[in-house]
This record gives sequence, C-alpha cells and structure tokens, in this order.
Amino acid sequence: MNIETIAYLGLGSNLATPTQQLHAARVTIFAIHGIEEIAFSSLYRSPPMGSQNQPDYVNAVMAIKTNLSALELLASMQNVENEHGRIRQERWGARTLDIDILLFGDQIFNLPDLVVPHYGVAERAFVLYPLAEIAPDLIIPTHGHLSELVASCPLNGLERISDGA
Ligand code: ATP
Ligand code: CA
Ligand code: CA
Repeated sequence: MNIETIAYLGLGSNLATPTQQLHAARVTIFAIHGIEEIAFSSLYRSPPMGSQNQPDYVNAVMAIKTNLSALELLASMQNVENEHGRIRQERWGARTLDIDILLFGDQIFNLPDLVVPHYGVAERAFVLYPLAEIAPDLIIPTHGHLSELVASCPLNGLERISDGA
C-alpha cells in the first residue's frame, strides 16, 4: 500500500471538441480507484507548440490525491489517453487527450519513461497559470516558488475560457 500523495496533472486536447474531451477525462480520472480529485482549474486556450498547422489547445490542471505509485499513475493516465482515442503520431502533433504528470508530491524522478517535475512545468504558460489558480503557494522541486515562475512567464497567447470542465 503506497502512502497518499498529492499530484498535479496537466491535461490538454486540440481535437474532437476539446472542452468535452477535458470534461470526459476529468470524469474518467476521478472514477479511478485510488485517485481522488482535490481541485480542477478553469479551462484555458493556448496556441499549439510544434506544428502551427493544428488547432489551438484547451488546457487545464487537476490536483489529485492518490495512493498509486508514480509509475502506476503514469500507466493509468496513458490508459485514459488511449481510452479517449489518442493516436500517437508526431511529437507535439494534434491529439484528443494528453495527460502529463506535472508533480508528484515533492518527489523527483528521472526514469526513462518518467521525468517529474515534468520538464516543461517551469516555463509553459498553459501549465503555470492554471496551476497558480488551484495551488498558488506551491513550491516546485528544483524550480522554486510557483508565484515567481508565473511572474516571469509571459502569457504567450494563453486565454482563460471558462470556469472548469
Ligand atoms: P511533452 O512531454 O513535451 O509535453 P507530449 O506530452 O506530447 O510532449 P507524449 O508523446 O505524450 O509527449 O509523451 C512522451 C513520453 O513522455 C511518454 O511515453 C512518457 O513515458 C514520457 N514522460 C516522461 N515524463 C512524463 C511525465 N511527467 N508525464 C507524462 N509522460 C511523461
Ligand atoms: Ca504534454
Ligand atoms: Ca504527454
């Protein structure tokens, strides 16, 4: 039995009605045994990374409490992506659902399949702003205070679009 950990998930979608994808993902995630939802941010729209020849993304961040291990959580989130019709194509290509593990308590992982904190967490507006909404006092291992990271991160086209999924 693992100890309960508070983890933060970054969700994104830019296909097949993204707001509905995030809502469906939220419902699927909180139904998983061993995961409880603590908070869910507003939804944000952001321009794509990588190829610009794809729709804008809708992003959100979810805080959960879980007794899964980090690798179990990764496998479980990959199942959710697959159940929600994700087809892996080119890097940063369009997708129905992406779920990244942003933080897993204050733990650090540098495994072949799992890097936590997620390597983009300190510089991606679509992660930092929703995270600051639900956990303003967070300290990110190896990166420091979330409030300072947000203060030095331009919006890069990020827009808040609704109160939640
Ligand atoms: P990015 O990681 O830059 O946001 P992406 O989300 O499009 O890009 P994916 O194709 O979804 O990348 O994932 C590629 C691999 O990243 C996965 O196979 C997974 O093993 C690995 N990975 C490493 N660290 C994490 C993490 N913290 N959360 C989710 N996946 C991770
Ligand atoms: Ca991602
Ligand atoms: Ca991912």
